[in-house]
Amino acid sequence: MKVLNYILICGLSLFTASCGNDWLDGEPSTSINNDEGLKLINEIGYALNGVYNTMQNAYAYSGRLVYYGDVTGDDMQAVSATKRTGSYYLFSYTKDNAPSTHWSYLYNIINQCNIILANVDQIDVIAADEAKRNDYKGQALALRGMALFDLTRIFGYPYRKDNGASLGVPVVTEVLTILDKPARNTVAECYTQIIADLEAGTGLLGEDFNKGKINKWSALTLLSRVYLYKGDNTKALEKAEAAISGAEGKKYKLWTNAEYPTAWSNDASSSIPGEVLFEIVNTNTDGAGKESMGYLSSYNGYDDLCITSSFYALLREDPNDIRLKLLSFDGKKYAYVFKYQPQGGEIIEDANIPLIRLSEAYLNAAEAAQKSGNNDKAVKYLDPIVKRANPQNTVAGEQLTTERILTERRKELVDEGHRMYDALRDGGKAHRYDVANSNIGSTKHLTGSYQKEYDWNWYKTILPIPKAEMDANPNLKQNPEY
Ligand code: CA
Repeated sequence: MKVLNYILICGLSLFTASCGNDWLDGEPSTSINNDEGLKLINEIGYALNGVYNTMQNAYAYSGRLVYYGDVTGDDMQAVSATKRTGSYYLFSYTKDNAPSTHWSYLYNIINQCNIILANVDQIDVIAADEAKRNDYKGQALALRGMALFDLTRIFGYPYRKDNGASLGVPVVTEVLTILDKPARNTVAECYTQIIADLEAGTGLLGEDFNKGKINKWSALTLLSRVYLYKGDNTKALEKAEAAISGAEGKKYKLWTNAEYPTAWSNDASSSIPGEVLFEIVNTNTDGAGKESMGYLSSYNGYDDLCITSSFYALLREDPNDIRLKLLSFDGKKYAYVFKYQPQGGEIIEDANIPLIRLSEAYLNAAEAAQKSGNNDKAVKYLDPIVKRANPQNTVAGEQLTTERILTERRKELVDEGHRMYDALRDGGKAHRYDVANSNIGSTKHLTGSYQKEYDWNWYKTILPIPKAEMDANPNLKQNPEY
């Protein structure tokens, strides 16, 4: 199957991620060759491994694409202006020097998925492999949808700002050549494609635990998130509930209060899948290196991002909240979130990266139910998260507000890349302020010219289209005010 030859994959790559990227270096993708002994269905599998390998890069989902969403918000900050997280936290980039990797890695992922999708229906498989073909196709669709969703929320304004009328990113669903110069689609058109991919993907994906791979339950949770961002609460609730019941039918379950502080180090398996529905698996022989979340989030590592004093005060509203146990203190100024825990025998930079958790499905369901006017269901799905944090607490009998649910979401998903999007997606604000607190001494927001309070009207809450792309493609229009 010559089209899957990795050289051709590189040759077909439109965007800037080069053949020097390490997704070619590991065993999985260098195995994509023309070995006559390989069955074609296996070549699809190898090509998919190449997608996951790209995702694993620290410039992608092991690092930058995750912390960007946190340090641009108000619950986490750069430890200092010169840290890797500094320019996002301070919003100090310009259209000429903003990093290009958000764009290049995500389009590299999309391009690889498009190659798979262009071939997967044509290959001959024996009947026994039809389920595998469906799962592979489902993975490629879901990962393409995930990459397009991230591109859209990084480079385009929130859907609800103008019902998606402003510019998103180019929707690319076919293998492009270097001669193709696609223009940007609207945010609404991007959402149409994202939803189409995730809807189709969830119809094909396997239901079983699949280590380090996206499955039906993680894709449904992501789809529920997309519907929430879009303001389609009926669909968001439907997908989140399907994810919860389906995942729990496959033995996934929320970590308990007792498990919570250390469960992040579990090496999940089909017998004990835990609550992580989709994660990047890093190991001591196949890791993302020191630019990964584990090393960046530790004062024994690069010491890059810490929680803000205002977030610490928020979490300390209940001194018995189990999530306080996830904080580690350097004894002087800062507190760090210890979610990126190495698995047995690994060092800190080899920590896996949980991208989609069952807890999010509960929070999505609670929010969608509340916004739909169904308080009973909102309570039903929020209460397990509240009780897990402190078994003495409950929201049973309460009339829940959106704000109450979003506050719980904030506490639960800190350092997992959600905050800035969550703060802004319904028209709300990120608000940076300092709270005096003895335990973290002098943690303060860094001084800089950025705004302390901002909403979706501030142009810097979306990144500029990278300069290299603007220079290479005259059909691309830059974001406003850059
Ligand atoms: Ca690991």
